[in-house]
Amino acid sequence: GLRTRAQRDTAGDEQTRRERIFASAQERYYERPMQIERGWRHHLIDTTGRAYIDVVNNVTGLGHGHPGVADAASRQIRILNTNSRFLYRELAEYSERLLALLPEGSGLDTVLLVNSGSEAVDLALRLAQAATGRRTVVSLREAYHGWTMASDAVTTSAYDNPDALGSRPDWVHVADVPNRFRGSYRGDAADTSIGARYAADLGADLDRLAESGREVAAFVCESVLGNAGGVLLPDGYLADVYARVRAAGGLCIADEVQVGFGRMGSSFWGFEQSGVVPDLITIAKPMGNGFPIGGVITSKRVADALSAQGQFFSSAGGNPLSCRVGIAVLDAMRDEGLQENARVVGARLADGFRALADRHPSIGPVHGEGLYLGVELVRDRETLEPAKAEAAAICERLRELGVIVLTTSERSNVLKVKPPLCLTAESADVVLAALDRVLTEGW
Ligand code: PMP
Repeated sequence: GLRTRAQRDTAGDEQTRRERIFASAQERYYERPMQIERGWRHHLIDTTGRAYIDVVNNVTGLGHGHPGVADAASRQIRILNTNSRFLYRELAEYSERLLALLPEGSGLDTVLLVNSGSEAVDLALRLAQAATGRRTVVSLREAYHGWTMASDAVTTSAYDNPDALGSRPDWVHVADVPNRFRGSYRGDAADTSIGARYAADLGADLDRLAESGREVAAFVCESVLGNAGGVLLPDGYLADVYARVRAAGGLCIADEVQVGFGRMGSSFWGFEQSGVVPDLITIAKPMGNGFPIGGVITSKRVADALSAQGQFFSSAGGNPLSCRVGIAVLDAMRDEGLQENARVVGARLADGFRALADRHPSIGPVHGEGLYLGVELVRDRETLEPAKAEAAAICERLRELGVIVLTTSERSNVLKVKPPLCLTAESADVVLAALDRVLTEGW
């Protein structure tokens, strides 16, 4: 019903309620978070009626309040919303639509639907372990893959857990992160030896693991290092690593939860940037445009190995409602040309950030592709000393200017730019102008 402005302006109350009820590990953003009441396309609107440009919402890929998704959900929920071991047309239709998104000849023909990215990663790890009969999983430093026991085990980012490296279970081996800006091997994109050197180190890790009786079951990484700030993998790295893992008898898992599903613009999947095809793909966030859907795409050969361990069944995973929502999302992505928009508007933003770097020395490397970008803030371009406190202050000031941008990476010094894929050129220009203003004002 209608409420007065005073009744709507309840952000203070909500903060008190939240602090009373939630665990301290349930982090929130901003010193004094606004209370968001509604969303429309790439805008979020708070209880005072103020609209913000939403530059971080990679879950809501189509944009907020999408009418096609709303209609599909409301129609289906009146017809049927349950999941048991019967036949559902929506499940087959959605699974076929997902498979049709894969590159020609991928050999991936099987879909398992769950409810979140963490569940998808957890299931992919289980599938790989079942198919290989081995336990060891290699993941990269600085990664985030989820909160469940297994997806958290391969999460290595010190942002999420300061003792991440010291506390991984014995079945996880952590390999070096191939970051050509601040990692063990550095250089520009044209230096093709960088990817080969990181891959050779990972190959040496695989040899050592095999010598100690820990043959690799799987290698898991994001196809673009999203949680590290949108860092693109060095040329040749992923193809080289996949070949080494497969030669050692392991399977390759691409975590596409953040970077897949059209966000790269020039390709639908992140792994296509590296010209590889994984053995297992994990997907979630944008699949349901905010509705909880996750999945693993793999081959029958891998998936069928799970039956040796018993059944797989998820009560809500793959129900007719989530499948209808998933289909509506794919329809909208196609009809609204959102992958192409990600390419065009993403390039405009990346060019804009690089132009700002000419005038603002605190902008270091600009990472990413399409609408997954990371603007790294540094105190010194030579040492790349992270400008963490400055990045936080910049986000607070951007919020005052009506732009929601947050930080990512272990060093919390990268502005993450992963808006709904419907971001317009006009709004991209507003974001660039706002950042220019904040950097000019200083902090
Ligand atoms: N993998 C990656 C790469 C992610 O970024 C996330 C979430 N940030 C997950 C998995 C886990 O997804 P969810 O939060 O849906 O469980």
